[in-house]
Amino acid sequence: MKNIKDYNIDDLKKELEALGEKPFRAEQIFKWLYIDKVKSFDEMTNISLELRKTLKENYDICNFKIAKKLESVDGTKKYLFELSDGNAIESVLMEYHFGKTVCVSSQVGCKMGCKFCASTGIPFERSLSSGEIVEQIIAIEQDTQSKISNVVFMGIGEPFDNYDNVLNAIKILNNPKGLNIGARHISISTSGIVPKIYALADENVQCTLSISLHSSNNETRSSMMPINNAYNIQELIKACKYYIQKTNKRISFEYALAKDNNDNLKDAEDLVKLLKGMLCHVNLIPINKIENGKYTKSSLENIIKFRDYLNDNGITATIRRELGSDINAACGQLRRTNLKISKN
Ligand code: SAH
Repeated sequence: MKNIKDYNIDDLKKELEALGEKPFRAEQIFKWLYIDKVKSFDEMTNISLELRKTLKENYDICNFKIAKKLESVDGTKKYLFELSDGNAIESVLMEYHFGKTVCVSSQVGCKMGCKFCASTGIPFERSLSSGEIVEQIIAIEQDTQSKISNVVFMGIGEPFDNYDNVLNAIKILNNPKGLNIGARHISISTSGIVPKIYALADENVQCTLSISLHSSNNETRSSMMPINNAYNIQELIKACKYYIQKTNKRISFEYALAKDNNDNLKDAEDLVKLLKGMLCHVNLIPINKIENGKYTKSSLENIIKFRDYLNDNGITATIRRELGSDINAACGQLRRTNLKISKN
């Protein structure tokens, strides 16, 4: 059965027209789904009984069950959601001074195999549908009775390995008569799937693009991220330059600092050379050690030195605040702790 939350407003209008209905019904259904957040068609009381019946015959409303919820001392919440097929994903709610941000998953598992990331080593099951991406936000808004202002695609999965559904989910999130989360409040983070950087540049979506760079030399980057063997740093930067030129938007480069791996002064110098002149920002993340992982955090002193070197040499850099590390909800710690929700 089709999930009604998979449709953006234009596509839902087309669906309804195909069922012989007036397109304005789509607006009513959107309000029920994204403002009132109903869980069944029966609650859509301004829709005729007949249409409700047709809708029930043709669509499901995907509603996630919270299988587990953990709360950090800093207020960060991690959710384990059960999907309708028994798979599970994690999402994280973070509180910032500018509002509430949800870090969403885009896939059940991940194929990228980054050596420092806890999502590596769990089997890849499938990509999430647009509705399943959007549902993470709806479920958290309902659970917390609050409004989410920002969304980052930095949970489990590679968003550019699920490009169409991610972009469609953004359209659904954007709807001013729905969740009303503007594209400027949405970030997509990629390990560097180059063709999709070009595609996004040509798309005219106002979201922020983050690139997981982590090193400015190919040898080190390939040892951390296998994707670098398919698209190396030079190809990646060329695509980023195209993106900036096309969109006039600043790119955010993520750089997780691991002791004696990518955190020396030489690495900072190489990074400056690589990014010089680009409209960009560097987000430094103290790497989070994962179970059996070989990378350990740089010292804070070293991270500050690294940041200052970048700033002194014309590359704006900030150190990312670490949230939720006590509940394994910090960067790279999400791993779908329960692989499958037991059905019995
Ligand atoms: N697949 C996407 C999005 C998910 S990861 C991507 O690669 O960008 C979100 C961010 O967390 C990425 O920048 C990723 O490199 C970073 N990350 C992963 N594991 C980490 C760890 N152990 N410590 C710090 N950051 C990590």
